[in-house]
Amino acid sequence: MTEIRYRLQQVRRVEGSLPGPRSQQLTERRASAVASGVASSVPAWAADVDGGIVVDVDGNQLVDLGSGIAVTSVGASAPAVVARVKEAVEHFTHTCFMVTPYEGYVAVAEKLAELAPGDFPKKAALFNSGSEAVENAVKIARAHTRRQAIVVFDHAYHGRTNMTMAMTAKVMPYKQGFGPFAGEVYRVPVSYPFRDPEGMTGTEAARRALLQVEKQVGADNVAAVVIEPVQGEGGFIVPAAGFLPALSEWCRDNGAVFVADEVQAGIARTGAWFAVDHEGVVPDLVTVAKGVAGGMPLSGVVGRAEIMDSVHAGGLGGTYGGNPVACAAALGALETIEEWDLIGRARRIEEVVREELEPLASGTGIVGELRGRGAMMALELVLPDGREPHAEAARAVAAECLGQGVIVLTCGTYGNIVRLLPPLVIGEDLLRDGLRVLARAVHRAAR
Ligand SMILES: *Cc1c(COP(=O)(O)O)cnc(C)c1O
Repeated sequence: MTEIRYRLQQVRRVEGSLPGPRSQQLTERRASAVASGVASSVPAWAADVDGGIVVDVDGNQLVDLGSGIAVTSVGASAPAVVARVKEAVEHFTHTCFMVTPYEGYVAVAEKLAELAPGDFPKKAALFNSGSEAVENAVKIARAHTRRQAIVVFDHAYHGRTNMTMAMTAKVMPYKQGFGPFAGEVYRVPVSYPFRDPEGMTGTEAARRALLQVEKQVGADNVAAVVIEPVQGEGGFIVPAAGFLPALSEWCRDNGAVFVADEVQAGIARTGAWFAVDHEGVVPDLVTVAKGVAGGMPLSGVVGRAEIMDSVHAGGLGGTYGGNPVACAAALGALETIEEWDLIGRARRIEEVVREELEPLASGTGIVGELRGRGAMMALELVLPDGREPHAEAARAVAAECLGQGVIVLTCGTYGNIVRLLPPLVIGEDLLRDGLRVLARAVHRAAR
């Protein structure tokens, strides 16, 4: 594996209390200037980030097991991203691709078409955020099928715009008080092996969902089935084998567009370019964002050319979509993933996580399941020796880790999932150090 050179020393160090005095000052300042609806989970403020380390404004060195929610897979200051961004920004920051086009946009579209599954002609369109990509996939699917219904799943997360709030399952904090939501969105059960009836297969779970679609929506009305191949915010839920292929097949048989929302799981995160690759599933459309541009805001929809092309000229776009600096960053990030074999590293991260955390599943009574793929792993915490979600333990574990200088995020419909999304460039020693802090925190929460 390529040896990665880091700019910052890759060790955890917490001096005094966390947050330190400078962070506390900024938190006070923020209180009178930043809307309180925007919250932060870490009370320490960032000063410098490289590899698996976040240095805060007080000089503490935190281990990053969150990557800014699965974004900085290549690191937050990857050399190839930094170099290409600098080069781009010195020439132009913006022209608007809908006014004066530029090559970077085409290069990113070509690259996404090359990487996305399927050996048919593919095209892409670029946007700014994951929500926008999902929303555009819906527009494209509706234009293509001339149908309206969008099928989504329990525990789904697709974003915070009006359309994507409707598609997102969890009400708090994402939807509470923000309705009315967009119509023609239908939610059906997902495959959630830990909570489904014992022994339910992926095919059976798909039947359960699709029967509901047929009876309550009508197969002929479905424009698209939209699913995260590994659910992110909903709890890092990996569906049972066979579930995704069955959905994909149903879409093909019924003229619906199968959309994989790979915003969180895609772009090497799970140890493959796309999470659907693990089961050889070929979606009609794929949405990407988060990990695609090394931290710069960029998203895209990529898929079958004939579907992508069903929208009239001018029907897709946006002022900033596919910004030239963000495109340069994406080319740098995708190049880094290839050159540093970050797909191999994601797989290695899974091995290390399993090695360090598997003992918790049998040894603490509160870890219902350790699951995930690649560098997208999670612990589902439950009340002692049962299946009842234990959100309080997840909160306590994340807080304890933070106090020790390890950034760990939680998620899940029930708030009881501790999720790990380390940058794929994290060194093994640092990763193990962070995981051992986490393991101790879980033991403490179990007492
Ligand atoms: C984060 C996320 C989104 C929304 O992306 P934003 O960039 O926050 O708008 C959509 N889908 C999935 C699966 C996500 O994880």
